[in-house]
Amino acid sequence: MNMPSGSNDLRCPVCGGHMLEGRKSLFCENWRDGCGVRVWKESFGHKFSTEELGVLLAGKELGPLDLVSRAGRPFRATLRFEAADGKLRLIFADRKAAQPFCDDGAQPESA
Ligand SMILES: [Zn+2]
Repeated sequence: MNMPSGSNDLRCPVCGGHMLEGRKSLFCENWRDGCGVRVWKESFGHKFSTEELGVLLAGKELGPLDLVSRAGRPFRATLRFEAADGKLRLIFADRKAAQPFCDDGAQPESA
């Protein structure tokens, strides 16, 4: 009641502006000035909590998480938001943590 909608503690990793919350994404308050930072609140079948979005916006790795590719295949990967190009990067467990269920070609399509 005392807080305007969209208020949170999340900051834009590029310009430091507040991140405003839209229906499907968070976007930088300075979008009118050309700051295109935006993170979707749901990606790869996973709904991010505000806390998780904060981790992503801080440039930290989130996960590993159980995700679903666009083709509907489940997979497990760590996510990291690259503010430079505004994309989520998928980081897969490396070979030393080889998972036996990874042999069915469950590769997500590249974004
Ligand atoms: Zn910004």
